[in-house]
Amino acid sequence: MKYTMYAFIGLLVLGACKENGTKNTHSGAETKEAEHGSSSKHWSYAGETGPEHWAEIEAESDCNGRFQSPINIVKYEENNSLKPIALHYAESTKIHDVTNNGHSIQYNFESGDNIMVNGLRYDLKQVHFHEPSEHTIDGVRYPLEMHLVHINDSGQYTVIAVMAKEGVSSIPFDFLESFLPLKTGGKKEVNLPFNMNDNLPKNKDYFFYTGSLTTPPCTEGVNWYILKEPITVSLEQVNLLKKLMPINNYRNEQPHNGRQLYVTGN
Ligand SMILES: [Zn+2]
Repeated sequence: MKYTMYAFIGLLVLGACKENGTKNTHSGAETKEAEHGSSSKHWSYAGETGPEHWAEIEAESDCNGRFQSPINIVKYEENNSLKPIALHYAESTKIHDVTNNGHSIQYNFESGDNIMVNGLRYDLKQVHFHEPSEHTIDGVRYPLEMHLVHINDSGQYTVIAVMAKEGVSSIPFDFLESFLPLKTGGKKEVNLPFNMNDNLPKNKDYFFYTGSLTTPPCTEGVNWYILKEPITVSLEQVNLLKKLMPINNYRNEQPHNGRQLYVTGN
């Protein structure tokens, strides 16, 4: 049992775009985190350790794979058989803590929220940010992209991407940002409920494709739901996150390589 649990933690810790998603809920994860930390510090968003070098730095990764993320969302097909996104987010689900992991600001969630994809349950583990956005829609790059990272029992990922545009300030962001600033490597306990539904646009139409984590190890086979409608946040709210994260913490557009891209709604 012990080894099974370590393997499970290892999987979670390895999967990134989302470092150390659940370390706080399992004893023994700290050691793993330290091991992972020493190797994962090598990659960055610029220069000799930037995205063009991830595949060399992380030799065991998928970063050189054919089905990577992010992509520019164009030439999609309408698929009327696609169902509405099956979100199960509850108002009582708690954020355990917030960390500044050196790549992003990340909110780690306690169990409670999940999404169903093809009959499988994917639990929400963590939410983090990219400034500006990683995915582009018809070439348009938004000021901010929020990633809701979910994982199933087999260690497979589903990520919901929510774009943010500048406008009126967001009340959920006021709550999230009340725990900031946070130095690189820092962590703050939150231990309060957060209703993720309040942090999403009304219209849940989406683009869907299969890609990868956007940070090493760039694991492939990730279900991506990109909500078409952005949420609105204020310039100040974007700037607070921006100054705490690496400049331009996004990976460049990856080739489609024949992948299908689907869309719901008009
Ligand atoms: Zn991400």
